[in-house]
Amino acid sequence: MIQRNERQDSYLHKGLRRKLVEDLRAKGIKDEKVLQAIMDTPRHFFLDPAFEHIAYQDRAFPIAAAQTISHPYTVAYQTELLQPQPFEKILEIGTGSAYQSCILARLGAFVYTIERQNELFKQNNTFFYLKQFPRIKRFYGDGFEGLPTYAPFDKIIITAAAPYIPPKLCEQLKEGGIMVIPVDSNDKDYQKMKKITKLNGEIEVETLADFNFVPMLEGKQNK
Ligand code: SAH
Repeated sequence: MIQRNERQDSYLHKGLRRKLVEDLRAKGIKDEKVLQAIMDTPRHFFLDPAFEHIAYQDRAFPIAAAQTISHPYTVAYQTELLQPQPFEKILEIGTGSAYQSCILARLGAFVYTIERQNELFKQNNTFFYLKQFPRIKRFYGDGFEGLPTYAPFDKIIITAAAPYIPPKLCEQLKEGGIMVIPVDSNDKDYQKMKKITKLNGEIEVETLADFNFVPMLEGKQNK
């Protein structure tokens, strides 16, 4: 069980975040709004205190239910591709720690986020930091289904390795909308990030860099 109790955000943490932002800039992230959102979000709050001193390294960490919080670079890369704008409706598949959800909400979006692991979903119910983000609505369910009741979405982001582009998510994307999704390569060892745009009802796919995510799985996990 990972503990995420109320914690301090000190000058030391802020200094480490500033260094992380410079690191992300050096790795090619250019969008100043995305970098500012990372600067403003205390990533150590999302992790077990055991990782607090290394929370600002550009690496993934274990969270509950054998899942991971993505590398900050991956979060920044996907967010930059998604170009979130204030008041947009964004669907996220894979809430996990809710770090990515908070970055999107900081950029002014209304976030609808789905998690299939009940343990992670429940943990976020009592996560103190989320209370300041009324724009984040969390759902326990299967991301392959999306959220037809709330569709269409301006943007969709998938934060787990998809075996294919889920057709229901394409249907729930608005005309002119963007979906960012890591899709398994042939050998499944890594994923190709894809940026999908819906134009005149057609799906246009742009294939980008390689990444490594935990798998996007069908159905819900009840435990
Ligand atoms: N965005 C998260 C990343 C978590 S890792 C963060 O910022 O921490 C990916 C998450 O996707 C895991 O929590 C995993 O349980 C979840 N996931 C995998 N398949 C899913 C599906 N079909 N529907 C919803 N969530 C899914």
